Amino acid sequence: MIPPIVSPETFERVKARWRTNITRAQTKHAHILTGIIFCGVCGAPMTLTGGRYPKYQCSRWKNNRDTQYVSAGAKTADKRVIGYVKNIILNEPDFEKIAENYNKEHALSDMALKSKVEAITAELAEVNSGIDNAVSAILKGILSAKLEEEVKRLELRKKKLNEDLLNLSQSTGRRITTEEVRGIYTRYEEMLNSDVTEQRALVLDLIERVEVFPEGFMNIAPK
Ligand SMILES: [Zn+2]
Repeated sequence: MIPPIVSPETFERVKARWRTNITRAQTKHAHILTGIIFCGVCGAPMTLTGGRYPKYQCSRWKNNRDTQYVSAGAKTADKRVIGYVKNIILNEPDFEKIAENYNKEHALSDMALKSKVEAITAELAEVNSGIDNAVSAILKGILSAKLEEEVKRLELRKKKLNEDLLNLSQSTGRRITTEEVRGIYTRYEEMLNSDVTEQRALVLDLIERVEVFPEGFMNIAPK
């Protein structure tokens, strides 16, 4: 029922947060699900009411009263999603499998990268032979403004292609080890047991969308 795989993007985000230790003051007063909770009947985002017992409420109903009234107690809804996240984190600690899946996904994107590199390399060879031809023409005494312009254009293209190659070579080789996965899950556990801000950050990392239906039914979609 609960997917054991967390997306590569999520891993990257968690790793990034580790490195930079971003403070998330802007989420301090928000409830955990603000922004990812939607009305299951009409699809409108749900907004938080104030008061002693805050509720997530269908914003379309609130603004227009032209649809069914759908709401969920904020405390209850937050708790249920946190419980769901807790299950993901605590019940599926097959770190080796998770790392394996992550690396498999990356192998695919590495293949896409490889074909890009091949395309650039081929174009670079063409550009180089174009430059060679132009230079030998110039050496033979054929000098024209058009030829000079062409050499300039080819040199610029060559520079751009070399830059692209460098960028691509820097984005390969991103792999995750079983130990790193274990570390991320340890961090997830810390976030789970931390304050609302950290819990919200964790929920945003793992949960795509929450839908509320009448009579307290909720659909939680993981990333
Ligand atoms: Zn609605």
